[in-house]
Amino acid sequence: MHILLTNDDGLTAPGLLALKHALTPLARVTVIAPSRNYSAAGHRKTLHKPLRIDPAPLADGSEAWMCSGAPSDCVALALLGFVKDKIDLVVSGINPHYNIGQDLTYSGTVTAAFEASIFGLPGIAVSTESDPVPNYALTAQVAAQLIQKLSERPLATNLLLNVNVPPQVIGWRITRQGARVYKDELVTRHDPRGRAYYWIGGEMPTGRLDEGTDFWAIEHGHVSITPLHLDLTAYLTMPDLESWITPDG
Ligand code: MN
Repeated sequence: MHILLTNDDGLTAPGLLALKHALTPLARVTVIAPSRNYSAAGHRKTLHKPLRIDPAPLADGSEAWMCSGAPSDCVALALLGFVKDKIDLVVSGINPHYNIGQDLTYSGTVTAAFEASIFGLPGIAVSTESDPVPNYALTAQVAAQLIQKLSERPLATNLLLNVNVPPQVIGWRITRQGARVYKDELVTRHDPRGRAYYWIGGEMPTGRLDEGTDFWAIEHGHVSITPLHLDLTAYLTMPDLESWITPDG
């Protein structure tokens, strides 16, 4: 198996190195990660400026590539031919904060895995929480266990798995995407010329504790594994819309 590993926190992030170490016994791992933090950069495609990619060894001295683009650009570059050998799976993380609920389309970690599905490859996004401290060793071990299972029963090519690992694990759950509760606040400040500028501030988000969701699972000490696809169609709504919007208008 040949794994492409990326993240959205940048090539020097400790979560990336932990995942690299856990996956190396299982597979050949090619690392291409952004040169800076692209957290919350979303599913980006850089079309109007060049992308650079340079060799940049990880902290353990192992080979890796640093890319000027977003996580989804790293994946696209690799799969469009920068990486010559066939890639079987794209893994993204470990992100130091959960990616759950409506985080998914903001998340550089998750959208890197979405990019894999555009190329017909399975993807896995891996996140944990850093409050009080991130447990990267445990999270990486869970990811490796999951990938070991997938080597026996491969995912459908248009699917990705969004994996969130709590600080201590009492079990694993297949979950659905839940609902975040954001606590964003607009912070207004003024520059030295008196012109206003803005920050999106506020406290860390929480989530709704609906049973069966990603947030519910991690709050109860379970690894949350949510299968996702990029088809955003609201299928259940189609019959109702078809009942009053006819082919004639
Ligand atoms: Mn991040």
